[in-house]
Parts: sequence; structure tokens; C-alpha cells
Amino acid sequence: MSELRYDGKVAIITGAGHGLGRQHALELASRGAKVVVNDLGGDLHGEGASTSPAQEVVAEIVKNGGEAVANGGNVATEEGAASIVQTAIDTFGRIDILINNAGILRDKSFKNIGTAEWDAVIAVHLRGAFLVTKAAWPHLVESAGRVVNTSSPAGLFGNFGQANYSTAKMGLVGFTRTLAAEGKKAGVKVNAIAPVAYTRMTADLFPAEFAEKLGVEQVTPLVVFLAHESVPDSGQVYTVGGGHIAKIFVAEGPGFTKKDGLSVEDIRDNWDQISAQDPFAIYANIGEQTTATFQALA
Ligand code: NAD
Repeated sequence: MSELRYDGKVAIITGAGHGLGRQHALELASRGAKVVVNDLGGDLHGEGASTSPAQEVVAEIVKNGGEAVANGGNVATEEGAASIVQTAIDTFGRIDILINNAGILRDKSFKNIGTAEWDAVIAVHLRGAFLVTKAAWPHLVESAGRVVNTSSPAGLFGNFGQANYSTAKMGLVGFTRTLAAEGKKAGVKVNAIAPVAYTRMTADLFPAEFAEKLGVEQVTPLVVFLAHESVPDSGQVYTVGGGHIAKIFVAEGPGFTKKDGLSVEDIRDNWDQISAQDPFAIYANIGEQTTATFQALA
């Protein structure tokens, strides 16, 4: 079985000082990639900053014989995002892979959530992915690069107490699908993961006995595969963790059509058919979905 290699490739991994990002960085470096280890070094809630976590991961990579550089930029600011990309260009001269992974939590029920918790979480996950990808995009277009965004089952399926986080994480799915469409011509492929792993982010949520089975090393293989030049697909979302991996998709049911127009009562009287989930259709893009609507009307 041939090993997937990343020799000559340059990868940026945001939030790579701990948890999943750290593991992605170690694995990509062990397979030949030159890695920019970005981490702001704050706590789980985004308070504080330290260059130590990124530097420690770089030291580990170098000790193992790999190449890496640390960056302490904040993904949520334009200066931080620019510094991450500049670090890659100044040190390694190109960018082939971007893994948007940095994240924080500020969980609160919607009744209690304030603008501060909303803004902080949206800023790191959603604005951060936008800013770093925007700064890296010209380089990714040049290299026909790969982007991996980090969504979450909490965004895809919803989670009590995480209106801010789940909004950001579902937002990243739309971001992934649209960038996949816009990157296609240049050969840029953009996918997303919805991981499940035992990290400082989930240590209070998952039973401790699952810590080993849900190790970060069970998520990283997917990220590394999605970062490879041979990855077959773009614009897709995969859940991964504990040895399990599956595609997650948005589907549309068969629905109900009345060509001369719908009334409120039509909707009430056909609710079962409107709510049917089988057979379903999965559309590659909005064009396919609108075409289906036009065909139903024809
Ligand atoms: P983690 O806390 O161990 O790692 C997140 C890293 O991001 C930290 O090292 C942190 O310092 C860094 N970071 C935070 N804000 C930053 C900023 N503004 N700029 C740069 N770096 C910043 O948690 P993790 O579980 O490894 O999470 C990694 C990603 O995976 C996150 O996006 C998280 O939402 C997502 N995720 C994790 C799980 C899980 O089960 N662990 C599930 C779904 C999604």
C-alpha cells in the first residue's frame, strides 16, 4: 500500500497548538509537508494569548525531523490572518493546504446568551475562516490547493446552549460549498469535517472512558486525506471520530406541487406529502435545485 505523501507542500493549520489542530500539524509534517503552526494560545473561551502552544508543536515537529514555523496570530482579525499567510510565504514561499481549525466555546442557552458570547464565537470560527481563507486564496489558486474547514455535528444537527457555535459551524458548510464552486476552475478543492474527539473542548461533555477511543488521531486521517492532491471530491462534509467516518449531506424530499398555486389550506391538507423524506434528491449546486423546480412546473 503506497503512503500518501506531502513532500514539497506547504500547509497552514490554524489553532494547531492543542487538540485536533496539533495532531493535524504533526501528521502532515511527518508526511513531508512544511507546516505553519498557528495558535493564539488563549483558553477554551478565547481569553488570553501565548506563543508557547504553537512553539511547542513546532519544537515537536522539528525534533521528529520535520519542518515547521510558529505563528501566534489571531484568526479573527485581519492583521492576524495576514500575518499567518505572510509567515507561510516568507518562510516557505507558497501555500498548498489551509486547514481552518481554530475555535473557542462560549456556551449559553439562548435565553441567557449576550452579544459578547455571540460575537466572540462567530468571530473566531466564521470570520476567522473567512479572513484566513481570503488572505490565502490567491496562493491556493496558484497552487490548485486544498482547504479543509472544521464544522461540527452541533451545527449540522443543533445543540442546546450553542446558538452561537452551531450558527458558525453551519455557516462553514455554506462557505465550503460556495468556495468549492468558486475554486473549481483553478483546481482548488474545499471540504469540511464534523469531528468528534476528546479534547479540552469536549472533556467536560464526553465520559472520560471514551477519551482513548475518541482520540484526535482518529480524526486527523480524514483531514490529511482531504488535504491531499488526489482527493476526489469538493464541497462535501464528513463526520469522523472514534474510527467511524461518513458523509453528511443536505437532501430535499419529493415534496408537493400544485401548478396553479398553493393556498394556506393546500399546505395544511398536504402536510404529510410535504414532509415526506423519501425519495430524496441531493443537489450538487443551486442550479440543479432550480432546474428541478422548473421541471416540476413544466
Ligand atoms: P482545542 O481547544 O483543543 O483547540 C482549538 C485551538 O484553537 C486552541 O489551541 C486555541 O488556542 C486555538 N484558537 C482559539 N482561538 C483562536 C484564534 N482566535 N486564533 C488562533 N487560534 C485560536 O479544541 P479542539 O477540540 O481541538 O477543536 C478544534 C476545532 O474542532 C474547533 O474548530 C472545534 O470547534 C472543532 N470541533 C471539535 C469537536 C470535538 O469533538 N473536539 C467537535 C466538533 C468540532
